[in-house]
Amino acid sequence: MQATQTLGPEWASPIEVYLRSLHARHAEYGQGKVADYIPELAKADPRWFGICIATRDGHVYEVGDSRQLFTIQSVSKALVYGLALEDQGEAQVLARIGVEPSGDAFNAISLQPGSGMPFNPMINAGAIATCGQIQKRNGRTRIERIQSYLSGCAGRKLDIDAQVYRSESETGHRNRAIGWMLRNFDIIEEEPTDILETYFAQCAIQVNCRDLALMAATLANQGVNPLTRHQAIAPECIDNILSVMSTCGMYDFSGEWIYRVGLPAKSGVGGGIMAVLPGQLGIGIFSPLLDGQGNSARGIRVCADLSHELALHVFNNGNGPLPALRLKYDNAQVRSRRRRPQAQREVLAEHGKRIRVLELQGDLIFSTLEPVLRSVHQQAGECGFFVLSLRSVISADDTSLRLLAELQQALTGRGVRLFVCQARALESRMRRFAADPECFYGDDDRALEECENLLLAEHSHTVPAATARVALGECELFAGLGTKDLDWLQPRLKEQRHEAGEFIVRAADAGDALFVLQKGSVEVRLPAPGRKQGKRIDVFTAGMSFGEMAFIDGAPRSADVIALEPVVCRVLELSTFKELDETNPRLKIKLLEQITRQLSVSLRRINSEVLAYKG
Ligand code: GLN
Repeated sequence: MQATQTLGPEWASPIEVYLRSLHARHAEYGQGKVADYIPELAKADPRWFGICIATRDGHVYEVGDSRQLFTIQSVSKALVYGLALEDQGEAQVLARIGVEPSGDAFNAISLQPGSGMPFNPMINAGAIATCGQIQKRNGRTRIERIQSYLSGCAGRKLDIDAQVYRSESETGHRNRAIGWMLRNFDIIEEEPTDILETYFAQCAIQVNCRDLALMAATLANQGVNPLTRHQAIAPECIDNILSVMSTCGMYDFSGEWIYRVGLPAKSGVGGGIMAVLPGQLGIGIFSPLLDGQGNSARGIRVCADLSHELALHVFNNGNGPLPALRLKYDNAQVRSRRRRPQAQREVLAEHGKRIRVLELQGDLIFSTLEPVLRSVHQQAGECGFFVLSLRSVISADDTSLRLLAELQQALTGRGVRLFVCQARALESRMRRFAADPECFYGDDDRALEECENLLLAEHSHTVPAATARVALGECELFAGLGTKDLDWLQPRLKEQRHEAGEFIVRAADAGDALFVLQKGSVEVRLPAPGRKQGKRIDVFTAGMSFGEMAFIDGAPRSADVIALEPVVCRVLELSTFKELDETNPRLKIKLLEQITRQLSVSLRRINSEVLAYKG
């Protein structure tokens, strides 16, 4: 038989293999021309060619000349537009720069007739006007602010290529003409020289293909750079930026681009293309051979292949987001971790259907949340309690949080309680929509327990006060024993007292005792990797016993047991139990019957849960 081989680090994932083959397929491409109207750009090597994809979680796939530096040029326009919006607000920016595709070349000296407004921020006229919207702040010049904003998007400090800057500044007469025209129409309200120099310097910021992919991934990720986790772009500007990229980012090729490639994108005469699949990933392409429109000719072909072969077109992108409703069950199927005496278990088995648990997942937005609201609405007539677990929710927009708060208020008005669990950071955002502060629970199980308590109260079963001490004969383990047996046991069961928070049993300890709880309650916690507290798996109250597993099978303890309040328990030692073999086998059988009964209650409960989770 052939031994399984270990894959070495040279092993490439299917994605790397694909990107290498894509690169190889286009490596010989020779059409187009390196930009030379800015003399310094003519020095670019036409063979340079890089492809990068950055994922939303910050992994970058790179092939070819992915680390070759070049100047960002017009790719900067999309991002600087974001900074202008942050500085001035949308209304102010829209009053000066339109959002209509012009169908003109990037450097057209064209403004909208009448208003003198540039058509959009992606052509030079609009980009120069945008640059004029950037504020000088805290002693920082416009270009300093732009440079650090773009650096934040890339996740590293970007420099300015001084030679390219000088070269464009010396030859940029056409852009100067545009600047003065903007001044004439009061789109720019100062002498335009500083703005123009800022614009030339902004275009001369040095990036590589990887930077473009990470900037694109930042746009795809609500403005958060996926590597540094820095909020580089205000989230409320993302749709503005991506909209103008979609309609105008590739100049007079924009219509065809969105039709064929289907990704908001921005190109630059340095040879870069930055393309975004919103919410998913960013692409950076670098190849300085340009077509007649000033877009990277090879870059367009590569993006078309990429989009087609990886199915990235934004208007045909899968079946939409994951449905938010992951699982629903009721309390007759899944009980809280608090063990209940027989009588209470019966009430919950009969009426538990009135408590419904809905586990949500993924991103909560209108379309994913809508089926949840519908489901709650349909069930509300027959329910008294809803527990919404947000444990597996990744994000939620304001619309969905507002709808959840409104749902809660509407249910409260009809006497139905809705608890929201494990909402974490979403909790404070939801409170802003006037959600009842009482409805939040850090843990699903505690909310479920509260619902059970309320349901039991409706059926006149108050949860027994923890202060009462249960007589030995009333404890489940000793149910049905006569006084003789109890008298024999009484002196042999050592009494232990524990303060709240004390460990009674520790996981991995040897288990040679069984505990009968006479007073107080205890929590059983399974140590969980990466969790400080461990996972709560059981709560036992006075009258119940615990520790029977290790007692019976001799394996080490599987969980910690911690006192929740002052506890009195009685300890049945394994040696005492063994003594019964000789002295009183009948009593031993009775105890074993009770232990078996307890184990079978646990097993039934677990079976029912498995069915609810997996069935
Ligand atoms: N700096 C260049 C210019 O203004 C940018 C043009 C571009 O990349 N399309 O001409």
